[in-house]
Amino acid sequence: MTRSFQIAVFEGDGIGPEIMVPTVEILRALAAQSDAYTFDFRRLPAGAAHYANTGESLPQLALEYAGQADAILLSAMGLPDVRYPDGTEISPQIELRKKFNLFAGVRPVRIPPGGLTPLKLPDNKGVDFVLIRESTEGLFHSQAAGTVTEDDATETLRITRKTSEDVFNFAFQLAKDRKSQGRGPGRVTCVDKANVFRAFAFFRSIFDGIAKSHPDLAADHAYVDATALWMVQKPWDFDVLVTENMFGDILSDLGAGLMGGLGLAPSADIGHHQAVFQPCHGSAPDIAGEGKANPFAMILSAAMMLDWLGTKHDVPAMRADANALQAAVDQQVATRQTVTPDLGGTATTAEAGAAIQTMVAPVEAVA
Ligand code: NAD
Repeated sequence: MTRSFQIAVFEGDGIGPEIMVPTVEILRALAAQSDAYTFDFRRLPAGAAHYANTGESLPQLALEYAGQADAILLSAMGLPDVRYPDGTEISPQIELRKKFNLFAGVRPVRIPPGGLTPLKLPDNKGVDFVLIRESTEGLFHSQAAGTVTEDDATETLRITRKTSEDVFNFAFQLAKDRKSQGRGPGRVTCVDKANVFRAFAFFRSIFDGIAKSHPDLAADHAYVDATALWMVQKPWDFDVLVTENMFGDILSDLGAGLMGGLGLAPSADIGHHQAVFQPCHGSAPDIAGEGKANPFAMILSAAMMLDWLGTKHDVPAMRADANALQAAVDQQVATRQTVTPDLGGTATTAEAGAAIQTMVAPVEAVA
């Protein structure tokens, strides 16, 4: 049976459209050589440039289509010079997380042995852990609603039992899946600041309660400041980390830095019913339009989408294609073949994407 999936595509701003084009081409080529699945892509408007042109950052119709699509593929959004009257930036990606309750921000940090990293790893040691960033509340709760007077500014951090339980259960399930794949010891670490803030003591107590219902897995805690240190000193020790929104925002960029930069860092924001797949990086206006943008983070995010859809709908061929995409990117990075300038190469965005497509879906297989 061939399964058909509707994919909502937000190309976004800056380098967004440049990295989305090869990614969609690869997905089309993979689907064309498979009899297990097909895609119906629909491009939807949103973002800073759209706001500058129309006064709307995320049109209602786009939101409605995205809500009923099978998954959402999103490139980077936002431009530093385009702002709402209150001085904040246009960030439809954050609106989507809240609107669809995408509480689990999944940020894998992978450095295959011999892979690209500024760290000096012990011989043959790789890094493979996942940071889960709660993506709907925490310090982002009062986004655009903090109070600011002439002399005082207040933002509110919010932690709820329901969302914390959801994100902790997600983290334990992920640790279980990884353990079954031989990818980790089955351990979840709650990253917080429970030594100082009552909200984080609450967060930690909920974590401990959820941990008791997963006796087959290990659970421990770490303070966020120490976690930043250990991510640099012994990142191979982690398995699954789960944390609050702002802490996760910051630590995920640190994770991206560990694995060779933002151009290699994919992400997913997952809820009970919907999910958004997008690179960790922004719209890189400094290189937009120059054909220099690295498409790999976007392509790896598409691989996460294939894996999520394949798991949810029980289509093993999609999970296999996700692994093939991941392996193709790993190989290109390891050999520095056909890579963009941020990875030390001279390839354009289109060339780097085409090289991956050739590896996973050669033209003769698609034709
Ligand atoms: P950025 O991630 O866009 O860029 C930081 C640096 O990394 C720049 O030097 C850029 O050239 C480089 N870079 C980023 N992605 C790259 C890629 N794929 N290939 C090669 N180099 C890449 O961060 P910024 O400059 O702080 O933000 C620019 C805009 O993006 C802002 O408007 C910001 O709000 C927005 N933003 C959006 C998201 C998102 O959509 N999720 C995330 C972060 C920032």
